[in-house]
Amino acid sequence: MAEDTLFDKILRKEIPADVVHEDDEVFAFRDINPQAPTHVLVIPKAKYESFADLAEQDPDAVGRYMRGIAQVARNLGLEQNGYRVVFNTGPDAQQTVQYIHAHIIAGRQLGWPPG
Ligand code: AMP
Repeated sequence: MAEDTLFDKILRKEIPADVVHEDDEVFAFRDINPQAPTHVLVIPKAKYESFADLAEQDPDAVGRYMRGIAQVARNLGLEQNGYRVVFNTGPDAQQTVQYIHAHIIAGRQLGWPPG
């Protein structure tokens, strides 16, 4: 069985978080260690451990998840200046929580390539 992660507990409201959006599909909250003026994490309510797992196991859910991420970014007023969406996947990318999450990062000029 998949590990019960920090984000499972945040989704169940067992651990407090600064929630910015919730609907039937997705749940979004501010990152506790923001890397930019806006740094929000978006998770699907249906749990997958990684980006690869979601894409492989439930392709239909990918579209709903992407729409949810775009909706959160729109609600945060990020469309005009833009934003970055990041999925850290696996150890080299430093994925630390084994529950898929999109980082929405915005509010400053972002460097490229990322570190
Ligand atoms: P990743 O390294 O891609 O797995 O991202 C995990 C993210 O979760 C990091 O950016 C952390 O700062 C963030 N994080 C860890 N604990 C919390 C928490 N309690 N509430 C909000 N974000 C958290």
